[in-house]
Amino acid sequence: MPEIPAPEQVKTALRRLNESGFSAYAVGGCVRDSLLGKAPLDWDITTAARPEETERVFADCRLIETGLQHGTVTVLLDGVPLEITTFRVDGDYLDARHPESVAFTRNLKEDLLRRDFTVNTLCWNEQDGVVDLCGGLFDLQNGILRAVGNPDHRFAEDALRILRGIRFASVLGFAIEPNTAESILRNRQSLSKIAAERIRVEFTKLLCGKNAAEVLDHYREVIAVFIPEVRALFDCPQNTVYHCFDVYRHTLATVENIPPREALRLCMFFHDFGKPLCRKTDENGQDHFKGHEKASVQIVLPILKRLRFDNSTVKTVTNWIALHDTKSPKTKIEAKKLLSEIGVENYRALIEIKRADNRGKAQPHAIDEKLRRMEDFLSEILENNECYDLHGLAVNGDDLKAAGIPNGKEIRDALNGLLELVITERCENEKDTLLKRICAVANTGNG
Ligand code: ATP
Ligand code: MG
Repeated sequence: MPEIPAPEQVKTALRRLNESGFSAYAVGGCVRDSLLGKAPLDWDITTAARPEETERVFADCRLIETGLQHGTVTVLLDGVPLEITTFRVDGDYLDARHPESVAFTRNLKEDLLRRDFTVNTLCWNEQDGVVDLCGGLFDLQNGILRAVGNPDHRFAEDALRILRGIRFASVLGFAIEPNTAESILRNRQSLSKIAAERIRVEFTKLLCGKNAAEVLDHYREVIAVFIPEVRALFDCPQNTVYHCFDVYRHTLATVENIPPREALRLCMFFHDFGKPLCRKTDENGQDHFKGHEKASVQIVLPILKRLRFDNSTVKTVTNWIALHDTKSPKTKIEAKKLLSEIGVENYRALIEIKRADNRGKAQPHAIDEKLRRMEDFLSEILENNECYDLHGLAVNGDDLKAAGIPNGKEIRDALNGLLELVITERCENEKDTLLKRICAVANTGNG
């Protein structure tokens, strides 16, 4: 079994609790991920010590009483925050979200039974090694995601577990045990009681998982509970020479074929939401989706806001959706024009987006050559330090002012005119040469 690479602070905390007579373990995701050879995101500690006992054990440390009513004390060890939670049993859940009450227990097993999936019940400390009281090791080794206890009861208690379940299936690449899988589908409606922020966190992780496409396909009805707009994509035909899938299956293929970065995956998931609305079938039975990028943005913007994505993500994702059908530049001049409009980061993203989009089509490699060229143009432009925007232009506003052009709009127009000349290789990007062209540019707007 792989070593558990617990940070020194975690080991110290466990040791101090143990030495004070309280059983204590690292628990859940950190043990699961360590055993899978992945670096854990965070380390949770569970202990028999009551919160006030934990506070006494760490009386010399800075303490943050984060979730005292749930038994959690955050201890700062060498500046590292560690969440230490007392073994607890949850009371009744009446709202599919929170227990009415929690009761502390000295019994580890009771604490583990309140957790969501068997692979999330594994515990570890230096003394005992890995402790497995709920069959988590078997499931971990066999790639099975199984609810702890009766799945219907567990999902009724906390509906977020439904989404966590398919998120883990996507991220870990695990198969969901049949009873758990059926229960996820049966109970999906109760997800509507869960706060948008919590849905967003799980949905984003799901999208970035290695099995995202398969999970989004099999559990499409779960996704439709919080994104009902997606239903229009299911089975929406694309009778064109370019496509071999309906809109939803095409979407999933594109998700699978883009690197697992949040904004890129979101862009692919949502990029064709406008297609069902824009679909027009011509007299030859061929479908056309003119203007679907704009329609997608219109539909997706409220969804992203509703799911409480931050403004920067909303802006990036909708911007990329609007750009996703942009033609790849055929010449270096076209590449510079595109760069001047969208910038280097968006240009790079557009290459990824176009590649992934094409991978979900009838000829998945049809535009590879064009995209390689698009990449080459960029490398060449950057390597040679070629000018493609106002920052790279050899003259700036002050130069033009000094040359006698009054402030404001005229300077802006002149700069843009010069940029156009430089990008289209009609003028050297050289200060004196550019200044000589100013009058002409200022007079005509484009030289
Ligand atoms: P991640 O890799 O996202 O951190 P995780 O399993 O560690 O996954 P956390 O939210 O950090 O998830 O929770 C830590 C542990 O707490 C879980 O492994 C699980 O044992 C338990 N847990 C978390 N959320 C729930 C829930 N909604 N219902 C039951 N148990 C939960
Ligand atoms: Mg965790």
